[in-house]
Amino acid sequence: MEKNSRIFVAGHGGLAGSAIRRGLQRRGYENLLLRTHAELDLTDQGAVRGFFENEKPEYVLLAAAKVGGILANDTSPADFIRENLEIQTNVIDACYQGGVKRMLFLGSSCIYPKLAPQPLKEEYLLTGPLESTNRAYALAKIAGIEMCWSYNRQFGTKYLAAMPTNLYGPGDRFDLQGSHVLPALMRKALEAKLAGQRTMEVWGTGTPRREFLFSDDLADACIHLMCLPDDVYDGLLNYDDAPLVNIGSGTDLTIRELAELILRVLDFDCELRFDPSRLDGTPRKLLDVSRINRLGWKARTELAEGIRLTYDSARAELEAIVNSQKTTQ
Ligand code: GDP
Repeated sequence: MEKNSRIFVAGHGGLAGSAIRRGLQRRGYENLLLRTHAELDLTDQGAVRGFFENEKPEYVLLAAAKVGGILANDTSPADFIRENLEIQTNVIDACYQGGVKRMLFLGSSCIYPKLAPQPLKEEYLLTGPLESTNRAYALAKIAGIEMCWSYNRQFGTKYLAAMPTNLYGPGDRFDLQGSHVLPALMRKALEAKLAGQRTMEVWGTGTPRREFLFSDDLADACIHLMCLPDDVYDGLLNYDDAPLVNIGSGTDLTIRELAELILRVLDFDCELRFDPSRLDGTPRKLLDVSRINRLGWKARTELAEGIRLTYDSARAELEAIVNSQKTTQ
């Protein structure tokens, strides 16, 4: 990618996409094509085709997706599979029709089988049954990987799929029904702190293990992949294997340890009340990151530091949420 290349960041308002946009702008990429959801509905095939015909992107980072935490995935599986299939089908095909040079499709670590050996290597894709709470979302993402692979095989395109682990960072969502565990616990901890509560509720048993990646680190990895020299990049597109690269921090912790760490960062102490009637989800999903490490990239942000940065960026929003709750109670 040249500094003046026409680069479309699909989903630049979301957690991953906004970090990618910031990362590209920081590095001096000056020709970013950005459209809000209201300006361009990626589930609308005609609109997507029209956008590609008019704007002619040369590089595409496909970070647009319907995403959510364990409860949202479990209760709205139809929305997750339909919207994600629509978005990725429209964008990937438009990339092909428009002759895009490189495209990076973002997925998730939940594409791997529920009980696959840990850490999860790229080659474990499609080797066993998926975790049921997010199977619909995972299958959409697996279809996206297969589309990248199929277009590469049939048309010689250069589409790569990156699978990040659980992401967090500035711009995350904090609604308790839809969000992932890290922002949810950050909000609950602040609520408990401001209200002087002695307990905080944590869903499930606290024993599942999760790996977390700071969104700016993900952005750095995505830009690193898009800028690889041709011979290295093309080496990832060997037609016998899925064009897949895991992106993670390489370490995980239990949900209990995460809750304790969040409390430490917020300088607050209270008792954790686990609610085993809530879903635990998959027991563990730690990515094997040796492929991306060999390509010269490593995650930089320690979890405690990333939580602090996220908290600092969200503090005003979180305090407003907590205060508005108090006035409605
Ligand atoms: P997952 O990684 O796809 O399972 O999605 P989540 O980030 O939503 O949940 C990860 C784990 O955190 C699960 O075991 C949840 O039960 C647990 N968890 C604990 N408290 C919460 C909470 O308040 N919100 C969410 N979303 N998950 C929680």
